[in-house]
Amino acid sequence: MRVTDHGGGVWSIPVPIPDNPLGHTLVHLLDTGRGPVLIDTGWDDPDSYAVLERGLAEAGTSAAEIHGVIITHHHPDHHGLSGAVREASGAWIAMHPADADVVRRTREVGPGTWIRYVIERLEEDGAPDEHVAPLRAVRDSGRSRRASGARAALPDREISPGELVDLAGRRLRAVWTPGHTPGHVCLHLEEEVGGDPRGRLFSGDHLLPEITPHVGLYEDPEDGTVTDPLGDYLDSLERIARLNPAQVLPAHQYAFEDAGRRVRELLDHHAARLADLLRLITEAPRTPWQLAEAMEWNRPWDQIPYRSRNIAVSETSAHLRRLVKAGLAEAAPGTSPVAYRAV
Ligand SMILES: [Zn+2]
Ligand SMILES: [Zn+2]
Repeated sequence: MRVTDHGGGVWSIPVPIPDNPLGHTLVHLLDTGRGPVLIDTGWDDPDSYAVLERGLAEAGTSAAEIHGVIITHHHPDHHGLSGAVREASGAWIAMHPADADVVRRTREVGPGTWIRYVIERLEEDGAPDEHVAPLRAVRDSGRSRRASGARAALPDREISPGELVDLAGRRLRAVWTPGHTPGHVCLHLEEEVGGDPRGRLFSGDHLLPEITPHVGLYEDPEDGTVTDPLGDYLDSLERIARLNPAQVLPAHQYAFEDAGRRVRELLDHHAARLADLLRLITEAPRTPWQLAEAMEWNRPWDQIPYRSRNIAVSETSAHLRRLVKAGLAEAAPGTSPVAYRAV
């Protein structure tokens, strides 16, 4: 993949994510009156940083000249290199407060807290013993690793939803789009593109041309709030459809048009998943794990790798949470781990 000049002082630089099927993060560069600003930075890895530096050179600038960094969300393929860019340039780093909280907490929790939390969640979801056993062994050995993101840079500015980011000579409005993470933002460049007044949208992971972003339950060992990330995500999709930008510049894959069509596809996809789940819990009460096993994935359940099963269960739990919030599902009394049934 190559650096793309999108015109109007906007470039995208594909920064590789090591050992990941996603391949690249599209880091965007935006010229402003006070110097170039980055939207996301890429994975924290020396080779990835070298690619970012080469890309910046191709766009006629360098890491040292970066004026500011705007982060769509806290995930390491977006926020990983922010610290390195700030070190090279003195740039500020801006993030939505809800994701800044995640960064702060992740830096603070010890490795033991994180693994205990993961085990607890899997047990609550009804994961079988043979799945949880390897994690228990790591916990008991006292050699658990810190959560990824334990070294992530603390942002020094907040992104205020609905407001223009303070950039000289540009109109870039932050649009809060929670769901993929609690503080995910898209950034709407409210400037004409090719005569079209609807502008462009930097969509982060919220809206991607061919991938459904992961929506699980927000992970927070310290917080017992019953959130509804999928409900948030679906609302956030509709927010983008109403915005109806002329062009979408996502953080993975490639730029595309017709945001409305893509939003509808994603809404349909989740509606179908919710209908599948509802059918399954109408047949019999099931735990999130049993539901994940019964759902359709991109391959049969027994061929899904260990870590991807955890992600699948978290995705299933988020859909289940949506059904509960909508009054369509409830915990079956007397079940432990909790099984859900249709209302
Ligand atoms: Zn992400
Ligand atoms: Zn991503």
